[in-house]
Amino acid sequence: MIPGPIEFEPSVLRAMGSATTSHVAPNFIESFGKSLEMMKSIWQCPSGQPFILAGSGTLAMDTAAANLVEPGDKALVISTGYFGDRFAEILKRYGADVTMLKSATGGVIDPDAIESELRRTKYKVLTFTHVDTSTAVLVDPVPIGLLGKKYGVLTILDGVCSVAGEEIRQEEWGIDVVLTASQKAVGVPPGLALLVVSPEAIDKWKSRTTLVGSYYSDWSNWLPIMNAYANRKPSYFGTPAVNLVAALEVSLQLILREGLDVRFERHKRTGDAFRAGIAALGLDQVPVNNQVAANTLSAPMYPDGISGPEFLSSVSSQGVILAGGLLPEIKDKYFRIGHMGSVNKGDIITTLSAIESGLKHCGYPVVTGASINAALNILNI
Ligand SMILES: *Cc1c(COP(=O)(O)O)cnc(C)c1O
Repeated sequence: MIPGPIEFEPSVLRAMGSATTSHVAPNFIESFGKSLEMMKSIWQCPSGQPFILAGSGTLAMDTAAANLVEPGDKALVISTGYFGDRFAEILKRYGADVTMLKSATGGVIDPDAIESELRRTKYKVLTFTHVDTSTAVLVDPVPIGLLGKKYGVLTILDGVCSVAGEEIRQEEWGIDVVLTASQKAVGVPPGLALLVVSPEAIDKWKSRTTLVGSYYSDWSNWLPIMNAYANRKPSYFGTPAVNLVAALEVSLQLILREGLDVRFERHKRTGDAFRAGIAALGLDQVPVNNQVAANTLSAPMYPDGISGPEFLSSVSSQGVILAGGLLPEIKDKYFRIGHMGSVNKGDIITTLSAIESGLKHCGYPVVTGASINAALNILNI
């Protein structure tokens, strides 16, 4: 129950374990081509250009920055935690002139504040994080997509902890790049960086006057490959992660078979259930209120006097693995529960039960079953 790598479906793992074929074998070309098509459906971006690259989520961020930023370009970073801060570092590496709007811990930046910054300065790109995995804060992409269009700024959404878990309608919301990694809500072992890029962003990239500063990430190298696979033709630039792509095809099929709206609703209900369960135990949470709380993970604060390592090891001795804190400012004061992908009612009850026992073990008073009752009141509607 950590926020990635998550638990994977047996059929995804079986596909991963099948014999490795050539990257130009007909069955692999079909798998790659279908995965590209399914990404457009899941991102809800029919006119977007999908990319499947071997690498982690950080490579997806790096690729967006390398291709869309030229030295001296102005970039606005909306940071709601650790991964927003990371985007600023990546953009600087490619020569961007970065301004950061940083939220208070657990909060978001008011869209009016973003608009006044966009009115003051002409930016080329704006980055923001849908769910910052360090704070469990959820940002509403809709007003930011609109602002991007209004001020002619390319918008880049870090959706590593949200794609296929939180609602995303990339094209309708006017977001230029939505990127993620395989091991979170997409449900595939770590190793794939996934991006969908709008036609406007591709045009901006084409009008660059300087070379892309990363050879591996350069879309000049990858665009012909993606087009070839989309047209079911063999092609080569760098060997794709063949087994991971086979697993991706299966997982994307499972996601579409569940149905996007059903899947988003299921994650929302799971998030509501965890928040209610945690609140019933009297624990505070990092997000300042439920409107800005993610549905893909939760971030409860430890009660006063509870030792994080002792609590986490007690929970883990019951077979449930949770994650510690990540945001440097409050790292030792909270923990994280991932609830992306195929999390069911049994997982929720088991996790809350282990949290209750872990708290009791550390000397915190708990009414047995309080968190489970609160969660079931939501799950059994
Ligand atoms: C996990 C994560 C990343 C980094 O992904 P890696 O695969 O660990 O490189 C970036 N952004 C967010 C929001 C994440 O949750």
